Amino acid sequence: MRLLVIEDEPDLRSGIARSLRDEGYAVDMAADGEEGLFKAENWTYDVILLDIMLPRVDGWELLRRIRRRGTTPVLMLTARDTVPDRVRGLDGGADDYLTKPFSLEELLARVRALIRRGAGRPSPVIEAGGAVIDLNARSVTRQGERIPLTPREYALVEYLALHRGKVVSRTELYDHLFGDDEDTMSNLLDVHVSNIRKKLGHDFIQTRRGHGYCIE
Ligand code: CA
Repeated sequence: MRLLVIEDEPDLRSGIARSLRDEGYAVDMAADGEEGLFKAENWTYDVILLDIMLPRVDGWELLRRIRRRGTTPVLMLTARDTVPDRVRGLDGGADDYLTKPFSLEELLARVRALIRRGAGRPSPVIEAGGAVIDLNARSVTRQGERIPLTPREYALVEYLALHRGKVVSRTELYDHLFGDDEDTMSNLLDVHVSNIRKKLGHDFIQTRRGHGYCIE
């Protein structure tokens, strides 16, 4: 899953990004509204974390512009904690709202919920390909045994599981699994797929030649 963090406070921005990356998410960052808008309009994100008080273009205007274009889940982050602000955010098309200071644990839980809902799968447990994928524990088990995956391998399994039964193209996987600061070699995806197959069996991820990958 690829996330965009639009936050002008440097320590907070990098702290949030680090926590999200530790979970295996690909994270892009923007330090002001203009950069945030550019990234939101040019790449595809699974969740956008949006601060309200931002230089150049504020969070309200950004929210309006993001909503004009699409349905990407938006989690608003703000120091303001008044009812009219929360109502304004939600009525403006935000999907959730978190007031600073917040715990990173809660931020991660809200991000997970937005990802599930964005994919149309509100349940945190998915059974696919003979394995159980627990989106909260971020774990994959088979016959009760936990399969050790790297965060990026897990992210790939999670993405395919959330789109279970559908063929996901390589382009879509590259767009959703890697951030804008990552050097993505053209065979990187094959390496991850191959490693996952070693752990979960060759048929766990199916290749559709010329189309992409799929978990049944
Ligand atoms: Ca701010």
